[in-house]
Amino acid sequence: MKGTRARMMTRLASILLLLCGISSAGTSAAPGAACSVDYFTDNGFANPVSTLQHPCAEHYKDVTYIAYQGPHEDPYVCAYDHAAQKWSGPVKAGENPMGKTPDPVDPKEPDNHGRPAMIVDGNGYIHLIFGGHGGKYTLGKNLLGTPGNGRQTHIVSKNPEDISSWEVLDNVDPFGTYSQFVKMDDGDIYLFYRHGSHRSDWVYQKSTDNGRTFASPVSLLKHKAQESDRNIHDAWYAWFDKGKGDTITASYVYHPCRILGHTKERYNGYFMKMNCGDDSWENAAGKALALPVTKESADENTLVFNSGSERSNHGTCHVDADGNPHLIFRMGKGQVRYSRWLGSAWQAPVVVAGDSKSQDGDMVVESSKVVRMLLSSAGEVCWWKTSDGGLTWAKGSCLISAPNAGYVPTALVRNGTPDGWMVVSEHNNAQNHLYRKLFLLGDGGPVGRAEEGASNLGDRLKDLEANPPAPKPDKVEKKKRNKSAGDGDE
Ligand code: ZN
Repeated sequence: MKGTRARMMTRLASILLLLCGISSAGTSAAPGAACSVDYFTDNGFANPVSTLQHPCAEHYKDVTYIAYQGPHEDPYVCAYDHAAQKWSGPVKAGENPMGKTPDPVDPKEPDNHGRPAMIVDGNGYIHLIFGGHGGKYTLGKNLLGTPGNGRQTHIVSKNPEDISSWEVLDNVDPFGTYSQFVKMDDGDIYLFYRHGSHRSDWVYQKSTDNGRTFASPVSLLKHKAQESDRNIHDAWYAWFDKGKGDTITASYVYHPCRILGHTKERYNGYFMKMNCGDDSWENAAGKALALPVTKESADENTLVFNSGSERSNHGTCHVDADGNPHLIFRMGKGQVRYSRWLGSAWQAPVVVAGDSKSQDGDMVVESSKVVRMLLSSAGEVCWWKTSDGGLTWAKGSCLISAPNAGYVPTALVRNGTPDGWMVVSEHNNAQNHLYRKLFLLGDGGPVGRAEEGASNLGDRLKDLEANPPAPKPDKVEKKKRNKSAGDGDE
């Protein structure tokens, strides 16, 4: 019942939004009347969220906590109390060493790699990891990779279930990027990340004390120069999540990283899993893997599909009740394709939602045959569903859409519910600044908020309009080309 009530309130908020629109058009709404909008904040900055840095939101004790990249690329946090239907935040939780002042308006300038991932620990404290793009060379010698920028930074709320104040916990390696938290049923927290810039190992650090201390990094995926061409290094993009029971899944793609003539190309799809009882890794068929996994071992043991000359990109992965993984990868210019483990082989990847560009999303695995995918595609975020194990997909309801906007999704809210499945940022190419509205989407659509709480830019846009920075069209064009190739800022 509570969910139904919340969805009714969401619809009410939409109606209020319309009234708000009438009011702002100068008609008869009473002065000072509370207006509601469908976004929860407008101060997401550049590429404020992604499916890669995850989770960035968690439903914990009927509150959804959300972390995102805000002004100056700093990490910000909002919270929504579902029972009280009350938003709080945004609160600036930390400082990103890669942030720039004044606000850039060129999308090429922000780094974006330092946006936050978040986890709530067993005692209710909220942890963020952010600020890293592999770590600057001034931080010391990186023994597992090459230097990058920024500094991987771990902070925690000073009090449980309270986003108002934060402190730094200096207990993880600074050479991180694409940081991802995985929390197990027993409370153990694993932090996965790439230990430097492109030519670096992917590693994890484990905490058994709610993130207060972490063991040293363990290498999972090895970077190395190819024997036949030392200019090309094996490199990876990986996505981690909790599997069945005490296991962790890893799905990943291969990046041939060229020192001279660098490109962002990525190929193939791979899968492996970790047994947290003894920290061993195995492939989908259960064959043990030696760590760190090399390109040769990955091709032999963990390949889901060979994409040939077609580019691929990472997606998300979840398991069914039997522990079998269901995967999505993005192919070509960003079309999502789905595959699952059939028990002895991988199902051939299937196109889910046609050929529109820049699709991305996450999924709820209900059973081995029934999967629901929340997918951003062509200016809308909609459910897609299969009931035959992914062979065919049907489009369901759309949770948000706009004619001139695109939506960048996150991984699903950890422990999300129909009252809040996913956070998305809205990207409107017509605007002359990089601030983005952020939405929490439930089955009733966006969870609305009073405009005064959602409007957090203050004079920033006025300042930008009064003193617009000179455009840098060459950089903007380059960024657009990268975007259309499905590479984004990764
Ligand atoms: Zn590279």
